[in-house]
Amino acid sequence: MAAGEYVSVSSQADTEAADIERERLALEQSPHDELRELAEIYESRGMTRETAWKAAAEVSQHDALAAHIRDEIGLTEASAANPLQAAVTSAVTFSLGAAVPLLAAIVAPVSMVMVFVMVSTLIALALLGGIGAKAGGAPLVPAVTRVAIWGMIALGITAGVGRLFGVAA
Ligand SMILES: [Zn+2]
Repeated sequence: MAAGEYVSVSSQADTEAADIERERLALEQSPHDELRELAEIYESRGMTRETAWKAAAEVSQHDALAAHIRDEIGLTEASAANPLQAAVTSAVTFSLGAAVPLLAAIVAPVSMVMVFVMVSTLIALALLGGIGAKAGGAPLVPAVTRVAIWGMIALGITAGVGRLFGVAA
């Protein structure tokens, strides 16, 4: 079920990419709010107001986006919610990802088992990729496409190896 792990890892990466894009847009549209945001973060870390504003202005002049990614998004990464959410997502994708092809194998006519399992696995992966992207606030189409493509590659390898050793039909 490496594909299940891949789905949860890539949806996390999509979430991060969406966070970075949101920061980039915010910096473009309301640079002053973003500067204040950064200054408040520095102040909350123990700087005086003057030092915090000065530091925020200086790092923003150097590379504002990098400063926000490091000091603002980096802050949320350190909070407990994200690893927990990733673990739950991973557990759910694992059991769902395994249950769908199993069900398909049960309902499929004997001669069609491989086809049913492959098609249902792809649909399940695409759905889970979509759910993961939506939960993470990331764009839907690239997530679903990537999961479907990697799923097909994984299935192709599985089928090839199975044929090689004579275990799959
Ligand atoms: Zn920001």
